[in-house]
Amino acid sequence: MEELYQSALRKFRKAAVIMNLDPNVQKILEHPKRQLIVEFPVMMDDNSVEIFTGYRVQHNVTLGPAKGGVRYHPNVNLDEVKTLAFWMSFKCAVMGLPYGGGKGGIRLDPKKYSQKEIERISRRYFSEISVIVGPDRDIPAPDVNTNSDTMSWYMDTYSMNVGYSVLEVVTGKPIGLGGSEGRTEATGRGVAKVTELAIQKRKRKVSDVKIAIEGFGNVGQYSALILSKEKDAKIVALSDSKGGIYNSSGFNIEDVINYKKTHGTLSGYPNSEAINDVELKTLDVDVFIPAALENSITDETAKKMKAQIIVEGANGPITDTADELLRGKDILVVPDILANAGGVTVSYFEWVQDLQSFFWKKEQVNATLEEMIEKSFNEIWDIKEQYSTDMRTAAYILATQRIAFGIKKRGIYP
Ligand code: NAD
Repeated sequence: MEELYQSALRKFRKAAVIMNLDPNVQKILEHPKRQLIVEFPVMMDDNSVEIFTGYRVQHNVTLGPAKGGVRYHPNVNLDEVKTLAFWMSFKCAVMGLPYGGGKGGIRLDPKKYSQKEIERISRRYFSEISVIVGPDRDIPAPDVNTNSDTMSWYMDTYSMNVGYSVLEVVTGKPIGLGGSEGRTEATGRGVAKVTELAIQKRKRKVSDVKIAIEGFGNVGQYSALILSKEKDAKIVALSDSKGGIYNSSGFNIEDVINYKKTHGTLSGYPNSEAINDVELKTLDVDVFIPAALENSITDETAKKMKAQIIVEGANGPITDTADELLRGKDILVVPDILANAGGVTVSYFEWVQDLQSFFWKKEQVNATLEEMIEKSFNEIWDIKEQYSTDMRTAAYILATQRIAFGIKKRGIYP
């Protein structure tokens, strides 16, 4: 079954109808260009061999090399990776980046393996997918359960195979090894920026609203940190896979991050009330930011949600039918392909810096990112008004216009 991919297509088709998209272009965009599945053996610490399944999908590369993260999770499958690659094509186009969409993943529970085992799995996976990746072809980056260490191993593996250092083959690397200032927090910075813009569109002040965030990994933590420290917002609820916490006066996010580092969980955080998943999503807050995994907001939760703004930090956190229900309730949904595009945008800056061997200051990275996000937000808002539609459909229209232009100008080969 291709449930997630079909659901992504339904959202795209809605935009295709409204913008009267050329059916030939639509056909091309509905099919991923390449789907690679690799099965590979890795030696475990106890000298046994385990076989892993990995994926790399390139959805569309009309406007440039494929770009997208690699996810390590027990539920990774082709449908998910294909959908994530599809979203990446539109995300890059929304931001006007010279990239197409790609995504990768390994089906495994990283908690079950030692760091050395994860390193060997990562290196072998990257070697296996090297037949289609490369700095001009497809440039991976971190996603769920992968980070700058993973990217260092990927970069080293690729470099060892070609015989020289190729920094620009992946992004999300550590600073000092071709990484960019501001990359780690970039997705959170983008989420914080669009949250601020959405609040302003609803004629409110960021300092007056209450925010709840689901997921406390890279995206959740930095969204919370930047919103609270730089934008003066009050974050009243947070959660991770083990449960949620609530405090009506708002959290000191730096302190919560330290607690999570020490305890591995948010549960038990001092002066907080424990809340479950449904309670978190249906709290009396103004903004809800899902920053965990797909399909987190279902019909049941959508019906009970009180937040007036939802900012999709995660990819695909709202099911199809829940999306319709939220629209019916006049809830402003800032779609993933804009809301979490900060990561790929600073990845683009990193790639450009690596290619030029010239590195930018953090202020330049942050300012350029915020400027680009605001520009895309406003372009989407104008399309939304022009077609009297929602922000998601408007974002798909904007992205599709850009990719369709490339497809038409290039023509169909041969
Ligand atoms: P991460 O692995 O750093 O964090 C994921 C977090 O979600 C963890 O805190 C985990 O405990 C939590 N979580 C998992 N299941 C949960 C549940 N049922 N309820 C509550 N929390 C749960 O991953 P990340 O990089 O922060 O990615 C999160 C989402 O953002 C994913 O959808 C990813 O594709 C998307 N995204 C990430 C980036 C990036 O730069 N990292 C960029 C764009 C989009």
